[in-house]
Amino acid sequence: MSTETFAYDGGCTCRFVRYRMTSGPLIAHCCHCRWCQRETGASFALNALIESDRVQLLQGEVEIIDTPSNSGRGQKISRCPRCHVAVWSNYAGAGEAVRFIRVGTLDEPDRLPPDIHIFTASKQPWVVLAPGTPCVAEYYKAPAFWPKESLERRAVLLAKSQQQ
Ligand SMILES: [Zn+2]
Ligand SMILES: [Zn+2]
Repeated sequence: MSTETFAYDGGCTCRFVRYRMTSGPLIAHCCHCRWCQRETGASFALNALIESDRVQLLQGEVEIIDTPSNSGRGQKISRCPRCHVAVWSNYAGAGEAVRFIRVGTLDEPDRLPPDIHIFTASKQPWVVLAPGTPCVAEYYKAPAFWPKESLERRAVLLAKSQQQ
């Protein structure tokens, strides 16, 4: 398969910001926490976690907004400076190394269904989850659910963070 097969392009609504994920994500989360519900105005957020150096800004620029988060340590939400749509976040936990791409901003969001449902303790009751996808009441430890290849990519990230 060509590398194009694995590229995922996306952007904001006004098309000022265009970006590309140069590979598949580490994992795709469907987060049912109350914070994601409020920030999306809906029932959950879909985030594809990927190394920041696998995200290319093809066009435009992002405005980074410091936003409170459940952990108390905040998240930096990258938004289009014109239409203010959020395209990705960086959380304090993984820092700048991992971007949480908003799956709904991809041109083909159907390609990234969730690998895991998190914070299902606050899932809105009408949302019925597909059987077979793992669910956790809150968060989880990566080795329990990430595929082997993603854990190898994670080990590279951890090694890099220890060099700094
Ligand atoms: Zn825009
Ligand atoms: Zn959440």
